[in-house]
Amino acid sequence: MCEPFGAVDWMSRRGLFKGAAVAAGATAGAAVTGAAPAAAVARPVIRGGNDAEGYRTRLVLLGTAGGPTWWTGSDRHRAGISSAVVVGDAVYLVDCGEGMGRRYEQAGLFSQSPASDFTELRAVFLTHLHSDHIAGYPPLMLYGLPGGGLGTPDRPVQVFGPGRRGALPGVFPPGRPVPPVSPGNPWPGTVDMTDLILQAFATDLNDRIRDTAAPDIYARLVAHDIALPPGAGADPNTISAPRLDRPIEVYEDDLVKVTATLVDHRPVFPAFAFRFDTDDGSITFSGDTTVCDNLPALAEGSDILVHEVVDPQWVDASLDRMPLTPDERAAYRQHLIGAHTTIEQVGPVAESAGAKMLLLSHYGPGDHPPERWHGAQQGYSGNFRLGEDLMQIGVGTRPR
Ligand SMILES: [Zn+2]
Ligand SMILES: [Zn+2]
Repeated sequence: MCEPFGAVDWMSRRGLFKGAAVAAGATAGAAVTGAAPAAAVARPVIRGGNDAEGYRTRLVLLGTAGGPTWWTGSDRHRAGISSAVVVGDAVYLVDCGEGMGRRYEQAGLFSQSPASDFTELRAVFLTHLHSDHIAGYPPLMLYGLPGGGLGTPDRPVQVFGPGRRGALPGVFPPGRPVPPVSPGNPWPGTVDMTDLILQAFATDLNDRIRDTAAPDIYARLVAHDIALPPGAGADPNTISAPRLDRPIEVYEDDLVKVTATLVDHRPVFPAFAFRFDTDDGSITFSGDTTVCDNLPALAEGSDILVHEVVDPQWVDASLDRMPLTPDERAAYRQHLIGAHTTIEQVGPVAESAGAKMLLLSHYGPGDHPPERWHGAQQGYSGNFRLGEDLMQIGVGTRPR
């Protein structure tokens, strides 16, 4: 959940969130619009848990909140969106939201003292550059480097993410004068962003590298922009997710192969979903997207599909607080919901992918009671679970 929040900055961010909180409180436990009431769901919904002990390959949910918000009013805090795939001792991150480092520690992924030890972290995969997916990225470098645990001298952390957008998005509603931020490069990609973060924190980094023997940051972390397939026909403002005939090959080592596809998170471009294939099984991460043919194609037969979800009823309640005409309201609703997958849509997406498990994450909003998400299993016949921070799920067979 990112684009909707960014899109309403000019309206009334405070008003939207206040309305959202009211909506969540007023309708807690009620049926979700368009979905069957929770009471009609026959199968039990599994919430939280840790059944990964003994597995070589694990999925660890570090943060499960969508949107650049410190959600309040929830019975439990959700950190910003971030997940880890762990194979043996090796760790791979998908997105790096607010609070990632603390959750990494709480999940027991720091392998040794000192804390901030990321020596087992091999790679980071950023689905897109919305802040709720990258707010934990600067601390990864700034807290990881001084302890000496960011990568190793012979194996720097590899970071993969979108390249430059290449054009500014359109203005919604049209016609408003909007000066760009950073007009010299208003659409930095992953490589640009990484370099700019290092520039911004150069005083700190030079102090630590020169005075307290922190290692050379450039030898411990290397960023890459994911290249789009030649001839894919993508365009930042008109065709953000053309149908791809085959997945984009992003990364491979002795433990995992990571592929990607373009997903539809307009106006964000590029936005990726990632699939991990291991000897034990496969995990696909939707990233932020509305329903898009590329995603089930990438996720086909996955053991786990980690998918985002948004509650349109919450969006409606938020819009009800805005002084909008019916036409304006319809336009805003489409704009806000059109970048994400609703409670009603996510089950059929997982079904069409043939995923063995649908695991919800990146909740929009992040402060709903769990019952509000039960309707998301409608249209899906596999194993449905509600993701929670620090939840761990084993992949493949448990070793004896
Ligand atoms: Zn998001
Ligand atoms: Zn987003």
